[in-house]
Amino acid sequence: MHEIELNLLQEIEKGRNEIIEFLRKLIRFPSVTGQEKDIQEFISSELESMGLKIDMFEPDVDKLKKSPYYEKIKIGYEGRPNVVGIYKGSGGGKSLLFNGHVDVCDPGPREAWKHDPFGGVIENGKLYGRGASDMKSGLAAMTMALKFILDQGIELKGDVILEYVVDEENTSNGTLACILKGYRADAAINCEASDLEIQPAVSGSMWFEILVRGRSASMSRIWEHVSPIEQGYKIFQAIKELYEIRVREKKHPLYPDPRGALGLFVGVFQSGTFPSNPPEICIIKGRMGILPNEKVEDAQREFIEFIKERAKFDPWLRYNPPEVQFKGYCGAPAEIDPNHPIVQTFKEAFKESLGREAVVKGHEGASDMRILVWEGIPTIVFGPGTITQMHAINEWVNVNDVIEATKVIALGILKWCGYKT
Ligand SMILES: [Zn+2]
Repeated sequence: MHEIELNLLQEIEKGRNEIIEFLRKLIRFPSVTGQEKDIQEFISSELESMGLKIDMFEPDVDKLKKSPYYEKIKIGYEGRPNVVGIYKGSGGGKSLLFNGHVDVCDPGPREAWKHDPFGGVIENGKLYGRGASDMKSGLAAMTMALKFILDQGIELKGDVILEYVVDEENTSNGTLACILKGYRADAAINCEASDLEIQPAVSGSMWFEILVRGRSASMSRIWEHVSPIEQGYKIFQAIKELYEIRVREKKHPLYPDPRGALGLFVGVFQSGTFPSNPPEICIIKGRMGILPNEKVEDAQREFIEFIKERAKFDPWLRYNPPEVQFKGYCGAPAEIDPNHPIVQTFKEAFKESLGREAVVKGHEGASDMRILVWEGIPTIVFGPGTITQMHAINEWVNVNDVIEATKVIALGILKWCGYKT
């Protein structure tokens, strides 16, 4: 390792407190989706003091609507700016883009939390708070990595772009707005929680809704009633069975255990409105996960066909077929070649800075990485934070993971962008 790289890693180690204090400041902003303004102003002033060029702008809905990736919004973008910090390299190097979201999902009742969700309390090496894993620790790592590089007076050859986007918990429009504004690079890192794994793929997921009909009958003719609950339960079991089949059959090298990514289950089972009324219909809603080598349309067809086939052999359902549709959320998967130079660069940076081999695996669940990949920017997910803590009560992140991620990212930037020795 070059002396400059070694020094940088040592400085980051010495700067643990500064990094963690920055993360605690981020956590103390209650930036629940829709209320991103204050944290964005803070970040923008931090980036400015680092000497970066700042672009603070509200996503333009009219422009977004022209993109096939636009997602319908619940709240407008007035007073909810994206922040982009730009470091201009001296030239001759490759550019690198970092992407993260500043919004967090609602922490729910305060009483359910052991510590204040916006307090940033540290206990036994864990930092607690809403956004600790998803994904303010990722924001802290990407920001501090570049800050330590610049503090060391290192001159990078390639450009570094830091994106802090809004509205990610609802849509990918924040990231899309950055792309539409022209922010692109030779590669990108999405700093979502990855348990420090290098993830060149994200799985997809979508929502389905099924209507099952029974036979109506009055309370006094209950023997004529066919319960949609009973019929719906057959569909519930079919879905469970399809999940097991898919876990057995679907394979992807980056998902050696695909059970999480393929998650297929019923989240809502509704029937009836009144205790003495025999119900007429049952509504079943759920989520279907797909691997990056599957197409949304194919998976949807497989699901619909499976339910149809089941219904065909049932004495009631064959004449009263369930109505299946996919509606609401639909996030397609994405992946890049696991041998892409950005993966290799981060694997090397990981090994050199932490002294152990990186795990390369697929990300379970959706992330804005997919938008970047679809737009032709080779992207990986890499960040501190652990996926099981995302949106959890008592969300935490390992303090040490944040420092390790900062080291890997800092060294990754040097290796990818090049620097003057
Ligand atoms: Zn997130």
